[in-house]
Amino acid sequence: MSWATFVSMRRAVARGETTCEAVTSSFLCAIERSRHLNAFTYVDAEGALAVARKQDQLFVAGTAPPLAGLVLAVKDVLCVKDWPVTCASRMLTGFRSLYDATTVSRLKAQGAIIIGRTNCDEFAMGSSNENSHYGPVLNPRNEAYAPGGSSGGSAAAVAAGLCHAALGTDTGGSIRQPAALCGVVGLKPTYGRVSRYGLVAFASSFDAVGTLTRSVEDAACILQVMAGADPRDATSAPVQVEPMETSAFSVSGLRVGVPAEFFGEGLDDGIRHAIDVILDQLRAAGVAIQCVSMPHTRYGVATYYILAAAEASSNLGRYDGLRYGYRPKKGPRESTGLKELYVRARSQGFGREVKRRIMLGTYVLSAGYHDAYYAKAQRVRSLIRKDFERAFAEVDVLITPAAPMPGLKLGSMVHDPLQMYLSDIYTVTASLAGVPGLVVPIGEHASGLPVGLQVLGRPFDEARLLRLGGFVMQCAGGQRLNGILPRRSETRSEQDSS
Ligand code: GLN
Repeated sequence: MSWATFVSMRRAVARGETTCEAVTSSFLCAIERSRHLNAFTYVDAEGALAVARKQDQLFVAGTAPPLAGLVLAVKDVLCVKDWPVTCASRMLTGFRSLYDATTVSRLKAQGAIIIGRTNCDEFAMGSSNENSHYGPVLNPRNEAYAPGGSSGGSAAAVAAGLCHAALGTDTGGSIRQPAALCGVVGLKPTYGRVSRYGLVAFASSFDAVGTLTRSVEDAACILQVMAGADPRDATSAPVQVEPMETSAFSVSGLRVGVPAEFFGEGLDDGIRHAIDVILDQLRAAGVAIQCVSMPHTRYGVATYYILAAAEASSNLGRYDGLRYGYRPKKGPRESTGLKELYVRARSQGFGREVKRRIMLGTYVLSAGYHDAYYAKAQRVRSLIRKDFERAFAEVDVLITPAAPMPGLKLGSMVHDPLQMYLSDIYTVTASLAGVPGLVVPIGEHASGLPVGLQVLGRPFDEARLLRLGGFVMQCAGGQRLNGILPRRSETRSEQDSS
């Protein structure tokens, strides 16, 4: 399939071998055939085809913009004008967006064809996509497994070949972990690199918009257009966006750090082995690999879940049943008071996990506990940030696993939220520090599920991460993962076939 990645499709269209309209139609058919995956919450077939036809005219005229023909899905937490935005929550049922998120408007302006919205955990809270009001998404690599979360629909859509790329969001790992679990490329840019305007807030000091793609080249093309300061988001950074060139990269002389704390007990042996093989290959290519210490890593999960819940409890205060979406009906014996309306709306509108976060966040912010939890967690956040600063004084990038396990069986952790939180161990520290992270597929686990490797870098060093990520995928023979999804029989796990 010469159009499975955006870059390859662009070449094919330029050579006259296909058209944006034909490619978009094929993706629409694939979406239709894959409805059981539950990856999409909304598809706009007519709108997508109309934009595709327009892009074809621009190709003919020789004026096609840089992203002409990119078929893109958008996680259901980012606003697309006139489309529903539900955050996979009952709370926002029926709500339509009045404007485009900055990311969406920038991508549309450069020719992206927005095909639909992808399923996710409710308000992006979760690690398996099982907290969605629309039900779970299936992992296309093995449908008995979850795709990871919270951007599970985005990762599954890309892995199943339902679009070239998808936007996701990453607050504590929600792009990187599903990328690893579905065998695609996931990029969480530096906090502030990409505007958050038009993103429904979960934890504002963590939230980052990024991409799920089949190749690092596609991630680079999209980031190039999305990144950069936005007057509508005061936390977007006025840092120049350098060219995200991913080809012709020499790794010789690069200094890579391997933090011991990320390879301890609890890491699956198959994942450890797959990463070791890549490290050997990098060494052979002239990369200097050294151990580094990040002693506060073990406090990452607790710190993240205190701070993210605190911010969520404040951000989700706006859903009162009056201003947005879901308005509960009054029962015959229920009072009409304002307070009762709030209680009904929030009890019925939010799912279990969201309520848990609101209660946890309210608790850690409450007068008697603020210092013991919230203030202390802020101090630990600084220590974690310092771990990264110290490491990046010695090395250029860090290589780590993205998730401790190769897969999450559907239903296996839904009743054990603590276990679910602990599975975020390798992604949350980069979110606490605000540094960029890239996950690339490096092969297949004995179970048949994909294995991802995480590269973390200095703030605003995405270009280097992408180039190294490309090199790593080549080492791993990533072209296979980069192309069409292997057939079911190739991906079935040993357990399943026994
Ligand atoms: N799994 C983490 C959580 O549930 C991260 C979510 C995210 O990055 N949006 O909070």
